[in-house]
Amino acid sequence: MYDSIVIGAGIAGCVVARQLAETGNQKVLVLEKRAHIGGNCYDRMDKYGILVHEYGPHIFHTNLEHVFSYLSRFTEWNLYEQGHQVVANVGGRLIPVPFNLKTLHMVYEKEQADELERRLVASYGEGSRVAIMQLRENPDPMIKDIAQYVYENVFLKYTMKQWGQTPEEVDPQVTARVPVLVSYDTRYFQDKYQGVPEHGFTQMFTNMLAHGNITVQTGVDAKGVLEWKEREVLFEGQRFEGDIIYTGALDELYGCKYGRLPYRSLRFDFEHLDVDDFQDGHSVVNYTVSEPFTRITEFKHLTKQADAEGTTIVREYPFAYTGAEGEVPYYAIINPQNEALYERYKALADAVSNMHLLGRLAEYKYYNMDVMADKALKLSERLIAKAAG
Ligand code: FAD
Ligand code: UDP
Repeated sequence: MYDSIVIGAGIAGCVVARQLAETGNQKVLVLEKRAHIGGNCYDRMDKYGILVHEYGPHIFHTNLEHVFSYLSRFTEWNLYEQGHQVVANVGGRLIPVPFNLKTLHMVYEKEQADELERRLVASYGEGSRVAIMQLRENPDPMIKDIAQYVYENVFLKYTMKQWGQTPEEVDPQVTARVPVLVSYDTRYFQDKYQGVPEHGFTQMFTNMLAHGNITVQTGVDAKGVLEWKEREVLFEGQRFEGDIIYTGALDELYGCKYGRLPYRSLRFDFEHLDVDDFQDGHSVVNYTVSEPFTRITEFKHLTKQADAEGTTIVREYPFAYTGAEGEVPYYAIINPQNEALYERYKALADAVSNMHLLGRLAEYKYYNMDVMADKALKLSERLIAKAAG
C-alpha cells in the first residue's frame, strides 16, 4: 500500500515526503508522534491572535539558492530587509550581537575604539568573522582585552545557562556560530535570505504535505506501528520493503540500550502582556550576564504583527534532558564521547539496509533548517534514483 514511510514531520521529514511523493511518484506514509506537523518549527496563532513559535524562535536564513527557491514553492515570505537583529542585555544596556565594530564603539571610548578597530582590521581583515575562542588567543594585549570583554559579557554566562558548561568545554563550533564581526554588520546571520513564511511555518509544511500520494498520521509514535528487527522492519506484521526515513532520536529507537544520548532541553515560558511593545521593537533580547533564562522573544516583531493588540513573549530556560514524559531533546551535546555512543546506535541502524537516518535528532547534529532541507533534498534524490534502478 505504501512505497515508503517517513517518521517525523519536521522539516526533514516533510521535504523528503514531498519529494518522494511528487518526483518519485511514491505512496508515502508520514508518521508523527506529536499532535501536529512541523517538528520544532511548528507555529500557531495564540488566543490573542499572535503567531507564536511553540518551540522557540525560528528564523529561516540561508545562502542556498536552491533551498530558498524550493521552499518558496510552498510559501510567500516575510523577509527581513535589515536582516534578523539581536541585542544582548548587559546590565540593563542593550548592545548588538554578534559583537561587531558598532558594538565596539558603544562600549569603548572613541580614541580607544578607533585604535582597537584599526588593530582588529590589521589582524583579521575588514569584514572577517572571528570565533571568540580564536580571538582570545590573539597575542596583542589590546585585542586580548576586547576578547575578554566579549567573553565575559556575551558568552560566558549565556553558554553556562544554555549548556551547563563553559565556552571552553562546549564544542568550539557552537560558540563559533556567533562570531565577532570585524565590520559594521549588525545582523545576527550573514545570509542573503532571512525571514519567516508569510503565513507561518506550519502553513508552509501543510502546503508541502498536501499531495495526493501523501498520507499523514499525527499523534502516532512509529514505535507502536513498526517493529524493528536486527535486519528488517515490520509493518503490519510483514517485512517492509520500501524505504524508511527516520528523523527521530536514535537512542530512543533502540530503547536507550547502550545508555541515553545526552541532549539539552528547554522550558518555554509564554506570557501575554497588555502592552503594545515590550522590547522596544527588538524581536530577540539575549540575557548574557544576568537572569536564569537565556533570551526573551517578542513574537510580534518576528512575524511583523506590529498592529496586534498586546504582545506575547517567551522566555527560554535550558536544562539537561532526562527523557521524562513531555521533555523534548532540542540540542545534541557534541563531544567525542557522545559521538562514539551515537556511532554504536548508528551501527544498529546501518544493519537495516532500507532505513535512512536524517535530521537533527537522527544524525545527532546541530543543523539549521536550511541545511536540513538541503540534506533532505539530496537524500530524496538518491532514493528516487535507486528506486528507478
Ligand atoms: P524536528 O523538527 O525535531 O522533527 C523531528 C520530528 O520527528 C518531531 O516532530 C518528532 O515529534 C518526530 N518524531 C520523533 N520520534 C518519532 C517517532 N518515534 N514516531 C513519530 N514521530 C517521531 N534553525 C534555523 O534555521 N533557524 C532558527 O532560528 C532556529 N532556531 C531554533 C531554535 C530552537 C530553540 C531550536 C531547538 C532549534 C532551532 N533551529 C533553528 C533548528 C531547527 O529547529 C532544526 O534545524 C529543524 O527543526 C530540524 O528539523 P528535523 O526535521 O530534523 O527535526
Ligand atoms: N552564545 C552566547 N551568547 C549569545 C549568543 C550565543 O554565549 O548572546 C553562544 C551560546 O553558547 C549558544 C551559541 O553561542 O549556545 C550558539 O548561539 P545560537 O544563537 O546560534 O543558538 P541557537 O539559536 O541555536 O540556540
